[in-house]
Amino acid sequence: MTRPSEILQLPAASSARYTKESVRILLVEDEPKLSAALQEGLQQEGYAVSVAKTGEEGFFLIYSEHFDLAVLDVMLPGRSGLEVLGRLRKNGIRIPVLLLTARDSVEDRVKGLDTGADDYLVKPFAFPELLARLRALLRRGTPEKPGRLSLGDLVLDANAHSVSRAGIPIDLTAREYDLLEYLFRNQGSVVSREMLTRDVWKETARATPIDNVIDVHIARLRRKIDEGFSGKLLHTVRGVGFTLREENP
Ligand code: CA
Repeated sequence: MTRPSEILQLPAASSARYTKESVRILLVEDEPKLSAALQEGLQQEGYAVSVAKTGEEGFFLIYSEHFDLAVLDVMLPGRSGLEVLGRLRKNGIRIPVLLLTARDSVEDRVKGLDTGADDYLVKPFAFPELLARLRALLRRGTPEKPGRLSLGDLVLDANAHSVSRAGIPIDLTAREYDLLEYLFRNQGSVVSREMLTRDVWKETARATPIDNVIDVHIARLRRKIDEGFSGKLLHTVRGVGFTLREENP
């Protein structure tokens, strides 16, 4: 596929608001040669890259680890890229997704975008173009942190460091507050115990004792923000983790 040359001559994200070293990309591609070449190229650009060979594996990795972006091939053995994408979006997972498609058909592209893809590339593509698209998605995917977060009648004011529900102030410990803010920042996604261990407890390895500590804090937080109010907001997703959402979407 040929593109206007100016697209390939974009400056290397001069105004980037992210550091590449911390950017984690999941590549879901079954063709070994292409996947190895892309992984190597992206790593040379400084990205951290994980590879999945099937849709199922990709889906599992997105659920169990943190990624900033996924490059998802449409034509995969078993579950197709479009099916994986559909299931992610249905479960409220908002990770930016760039689809790779071998078929240059309008129908396929429309289907991909309708299913919730953020962008797509038709194979074969030029590697610099992939990089430019990834940079654009990553810039888009890192919005400024809003100071006031709300869900239904639950409000977290990050500037005042306060939480209230239905106008009633809720007293949280520092850890409970961090936990709630993290759940808010990942609203629409399921937050795993691995993510909480790393990002809230700042521990490098997950272990049973920390799981118990997390569960105790979740239980306390749930009691404070849900008990006595109408509509449960903090939910446990069995075998996966926790999510903040309204009861009947
Ligand atoms: Ca393929």
